[in-house]
Amino acid sequence: MKRLNTIKIVVLGLGIFITAIGSAFAQIKVVTTLPDLASITQYVGGDHVDVFSIAKGYQNPHFVDPKPSYIVKLSRADMFVTVGLDLELGWSSQLFQSSRNVQIQKGTSGYVDVSEGMPLLQVPTTTSREEGDIHIYGNPHYWLDPDRGKLIAKKIYTHLVQIDPKNQVDYARNLKAFDDKIDQKLVEWERKMAPYQNTEVIAYHNEWVYFEQRFGLNIVDFLEPKPGIPPSPSQLVKIINEVKSRNIPLLINSPYFSSSSPEVVARNTNIKIVPLSTMTGGYDEIKNYFDLFDYNINKIIDALTHSNASN
Ligand SMILES: [Zn+2]
Repeated sequence: MKRLNTIKIVVLGLGIFITAIGSAFAQIKVVTTLPDLASITQYVGGDHVDVFSIAKGYQNPHFVDPKPSYIVKLSRADMFVTVGLDLELGWSSQLFQSSRNVQIQKGTSGYVDVSEGMPLLQVPTTTSREEGDIHIYGNPHYWLDPDRGKLIAKKIYTHLVQIDPKNQVDYARNLKAFDDKIDQKLVEWERKMAPYQNTEVIAYHNEWVYFEQRFGLNIVDFLEPKPGIPPSPSQLVKIINEVKSRNIPLLINSPYFSSSSPEVVARNTNIKIVPLSTMTGGYDEIKNYFDLFDYNINKIIDALTHSNASN
């Protein structure tokens, strides 16, 4: 009997020990809508976070198939990070509600809407979904400006500290390292783009305005007549005429748009199609938020130095 009690005590002690070890190394489970939010969360959270992005980098962030496995991830999350506005409106709220996770409801530390306080571009004076516009609260593609990436990181930091204050020192150190790296890379990126200021480009969807402003491009028009509305024959004719009359050298496409409309324009003009990525993971070599800008800037410069357009 005494021996049995000793075993019980040992087992109980071991259980407490394992639980203590487990909680010491328990990671904050973070679910993000986009891979760039996941990448930035990983930089700020370091070893203390376990991050999962619902959308993949090659998917259109406006349209993602809601899978049951995403609900399971959300139901177990300590933190949910979203771009907000109407970027993920068609798919995220449905998943979010189905998760029934009280830890990540709006108004809690676990709910991070990065658009709150974010300086936005193209905010309309009136909001209307007339003709299917999907940018009615302003342009939601703000993560494509690395300087705004620092604001994203700061917001994520604030919420991580609220959820996990004991690791505040680590989060603060990681945030500073992220900001320093952005500052350092911005100098490099801006220097590389300096010779190409005001280069006129056509884009498929209106998702490059923050990138355009940061790096000095000039987006003249879009294949979509309105954000979310597929290119119409009349829009393509208009674009072809603009490209011809202004000798526009580049057409920016994204992995999730068909190449057929860009090819119609390219066949009728001297424009060069350059596929870029709007998100981390859009192409295999884009492993993180910094790779995203390295990739896009190198592709733009490469395309412009081998441009089809005559001078
Ligand atoms: Zn959009």
